[in-house]
Amino acid sequence: MKEIIIATKNPGKAEEFKTFFAKFNIKAVSLLDLSQSIQDIEETGVTFEENAALKAEQIAKLLNTPVLADDSGLTIDALDGRPGIFSARYAGEPKDDKANIEKVLAELKNAKVTDRTARFVCVLAVATPDANTIFKKGYCEGRISVTSKGSNGFGYDPIFIPKNYTRTMAELSSDEKNSISHRSNAIKQLEDWLENL
Ligand code: IMP
Repeated sequence: MKEIIIATKNPGKAEEFKTFFAKFNIKAVSLLDLSQSIQDIEETGVTFEENAALKAEQIAKLLNTPVLADDSGLTIDALDGRPGIFSARYAGEPKDDKANIEKVLAELKNAKVTDRTARFVCVLAVATPDANTIFKKGYCEGRISVTSKGSNGFGYDPIFIPKNYTRTMAELSSDEKNSISHRSNAIKQLEDWLENL
């Protein structure tokens, strides 16, 4: 079976990639699966693209093999696009999904339903030792709920209601999330590349 390294230590992301790539008969190996310990890459970029490239290119060089990195986050219109590239650590160090959610809900406390529009963004970067890095971008439109609901998924899933849905992403099954998510929309654009891996 073909394999690809996914430059993530986020168990939620890793699980989603394993499910997507199984459909292409490709084994997704996350940094959590490697016996070699890989240091965290500092995300010093100012865009999702720059941060995805930093992770994919540095790890591809280190392991001398193709590496796919995902840089993703939530952009909320009423917050001028925040938390954006700072989604993982929006409430500060250490990374804490619950604290991030509380911060967003507090910031939107007085926002009406119509002012709570948001989207998840996912940029995938595929770096190979001998070719230029490829980028693909996917979105999932929706809005921020008033309270946190559901226990599936990870990150901001409990406060994100996808467009045309009444439940939060964390109340959807993993199959439902994977059929509409920003990550699956980005991966669909990689299909040709994956077939030739
Ligand atoms: P990254 O690891 O720097 O790409 O940070 C991604 C952060 O964005 C995560 O820690 C989550 O807070 C958020 N995020 C990205 N994708 C999702 C998702 O599918 N559901 C919920 N939150 C997400």
